[in-house]
Formats: sequence, structure tokens, C-alpha cells
Amino acid sequence: MANTNVNGKFFKPYLSDGDIQSAIARIAEEIKAEYKDKRPLFIAILNGSFMFASDLFKKLEIDAEICFIKLASYKGTKSTGHVITAIGLDMDLYDRHVVIVEDIVDTGKTLNEFLPQLTHQQPASLKIAALLHKPEATLFPIPIDYLGFSIPNKFVVGYGLDYDGLGRNLPEILQLADGE
Ligand code: 5GP
Repeated sequence: MANTNVNGKFFKPYLSDGDIQSAIARIAEEIKAEYKDKRPLFIAILNGSFMFASDLFKKLEIDAEICFIKLASYKGTKSTGHVITAIGLDMDLYDRHVVIVEDIVDTGKTLNEFLPQLTHQQPASLKIAALLHKPEATLFPIPIDYLGFSIPNKFVVGYGLDYDGLGRNLPEILQLADGE
């Protein structure tokens, strides 16, 4: 298949819609088995996870709740350093079974900074579902409980993931072509 131009760079086919949907079906089975009767709360991190969250949630077939949040990062004061705030996190997590839904874990920095804010609320359990993980890029190891694919340390777009704002609407995942 030909390469696709996204925002001036060429990307090659990497994970097809079929690949993605079967990985999500596998994850959904694992989650169903573990969370039946626990009424889990899924917290999907926007923007990138919107397609993954939607497809995963449709396949769950158990009582479950979902909310969508956005993480904003800014430089705090000298003493607080770099700060991440969650916009839209208005649920009480105390004693809830929480599953974070993330599109991709790259260095792990985002979740490493965000997770303590959730554990602080004393959920009954806290797990992470990520569609993609780049193990070679890890700076902050994050335990990923439900994983779609381990991928090489190359930039990907599509299925919710963007390159400078574009490419999110591609139904499959493309990888930056060699030489780009
Ligand atoms: P981390 O904090 O784990 O380094 O980065 C996580 C965020 O970086 C992801 O939620 C995503 O927004 C962005 N990211 C990391 N790798 C890629 C990639 O290959 N493609 C795209 N589109 N975004 C990425």
C-alpha cells in the first residue's frame, strides 16, 4: 500500500483496522473477566484515546462508567516544578475500581506524574489500559495492565493519534516512513 502524506510527512501502513480491533477484543475479554460485578470507572485521557476508549467500551458488555479528561501541563513554581492538572476529573474515586485508558505510553512521564493524583483519592484498584507502548522510549516505567501492542520507538499517527493536529481520523495506525 502507498504511503500517506500527513501534514507534509510520509507515513507507511503499520497496524490495520483488523489488527487494532482484534487487540481491543482481547483486552475487552480480559477486562470483562476481571471487572464483572465491580462497576469499574474508566478514565480516558483525551485527545488521543477517544477512538480506543470508544471501541473498547463498546466491547465490554458489563456495567461500567466512563469519563473523559484532559491533562494540561505547565511549569509550576520553583518548589512545585512541572505540574500536570486533570481537566474534567470530577468523579469521586474513593473505593472505585478505576481503569485509565491511554492511547500510547511513550516515555511514561505523563502517567508517572498523573497517577499519584489518582492514588491520593484511594481507589479500590487502579489499572492502566494502553493501546500502544514504546518500551525503548521508557524513562519512567509504568505498569501497563492491559496492552494492545508494544511498538518500536518510531512516531505513529492515526486512530486518534495526531501529527501536529492532523491524522486523528485515519482508521488505522501508520508509522513514520524510513528517511522522514
Ligand atoms: P509520555 O508522557 O508517555 O512520554 O507521552 C505520552 C503522550 O505523548 C501520548 O499520550 C501522546 O499524546 C504523545 N505521543 C507519544 N508518542 C507518540 C507517537 O508516536 N505519536 C503520537 N501521535 N503521539 C505520541
